[in-house]
Amino acid sequence: MGKVLIIGAGGVGTVVAHKVAKENEVFSDILLASRTKEKCDAIAKAVGGDRIKTARVDADNVNELVQLMNDFKPDIVINVALPYQDLTIMEACLKTGTAYLDTANYEPRDEAKFEYKWQWAYHDRFKEANLTAILGCGFDPGVTSVFTAYAAKHYFDEIHYLDIVDCNAGDHGRPFATNFNPEINIREVTQKGKYWENGQWIETEPHEIHKPLNYPGIGPKESYLIYHEELESLVKNFPTLKRARFWMTFSQEYLTHLRVIQNIGMARIDPVIYKGVEIIPIEFLKAVLPNPGELGANYKGWTSIGCRIRGIKDGKEKTYYVYNNCSHEEAYRETGTQAVSYTTGVPAMIGAMMYLKGIWKKPGVYNVEQFDPDPFMEALNRYGLPWHELHDIDLEL
Ligand code: NDP
Repeated sequence: MGKVLIIGAGGVGTVVAHKVAKENEVFSDILLASRTKEKCDAIAKAVGGDRIKTARVDADNVNELVQLMNDFKPDIVINVALPYQDLTIMEACLKTGTAYLDTANYEPRDEAKFEYKWQWAYHDRFKEANLTAILGCGFDPGVTSVFTAYAAKHYFDEIHYLDIVDCNAGDHGRPFATNFNPEINIREVTQKGKYWENGQWIETEPHEIHKPLNYPGIGPKESYLIYHEELESLVKNFPTLKRARFWMTFSQEYLTHLRVIQNIGMARIDPVIYKGVEIIPIEFLKAVLPNPGELGANYKGWTSIGCRIRGIKDGKEKTYYVYNNCSHEEAYRETGTQAVSYTTGVPAMIGAMMYLKGIWKKPGVYNVEQFDPDPFMEALNRYGLPWHELHDIDLEL
């Protein structure tokens, strides 16, 4: 039993709140805090049963966080605000003796850079304080990292080739919308591609490498090689990897909009002066794009995310594909949000549960693949993200 503080009341925060509230035996008290308290209140009302208390907090401000945490005394913080807040929340956790969990690595606002170095630098301080920090506990990073650890533990002597494949075959009926925070999403998908091969990072132009891949129950979808943050920790934690890549599906419509957004300067992350006021174009764009948390009502179809792995078992080559398919409509029925928020929020809840049950508890800062994957895999089946395995198949990659 433990007390949990959820920070962030967007699409992912909504799912975390719904899921945590159902587990009375693990989460005794729940506080949902975010920049806009009304959003927390609306989520608490939708969950019902007076299970969730709410508060306003500016998570960029360590003192405000410390005050909130000293008042509520959580055992763990689930950070589902934005990556910009990771370090301030980690600081507040250290000051108040609280465990930490997030779903996205820290990013400086003025540079779209996905690197763990800032958060890994906290390892010794968390260790000395006897506190656990769990990094990247959404779906990707998160479940994909646990899938990799599970494959390495049970099916391979060495894993050599890893391809993480992320397909969203859903249709929300809008000409252009992002499935999670537009600012973070656009920063992520417009950067250069990057993958790991033979001990070094190979950079590509954005969306330069692509091919159709077949997704189970969905069929072929054009998939684009992009850089994704879990690659950094996975190649470090699984040094036998000769190559590690990440593929994501995009529709032509989406890519055309994205190109226009970039060409007209609306993806810029540096400030411009407008009517005497400094604005950052991508932040303004977020304000006019559909809110990802509200796409759910008309969203149809599935996501399919998994890991395709090739390696060696008992001296022989082996292939393995582990994946989850998640329905946008079912996610909406259960939590009022679409499958991208759902597939991120459920693992965050499970990670916090693993911590409170003492299963994923070790002082220091760790990526999820550094914990035992088995209880987490079992929980995925139980809490709404069942997974499937295919052995010795053509991986197409
Ligand atoms: P949203 O933009 O929908 O929600 C973010 C929430 O954080 C909002 O409620 C926002 O408040 C709040 N927030 C922002 N800044 C602050 C601040 N300074 N203080 C307090 N609260 C703040 O994003 P999502 O729910 O879509 O995504 C949440 C996180 O999940 C992101 O970090 C994203 O990168 C990550 N993610 C991870 C995935 C994975 O698989 N690992 C996949 C998808 C997302 P306000 O409402 O006032 O703006």
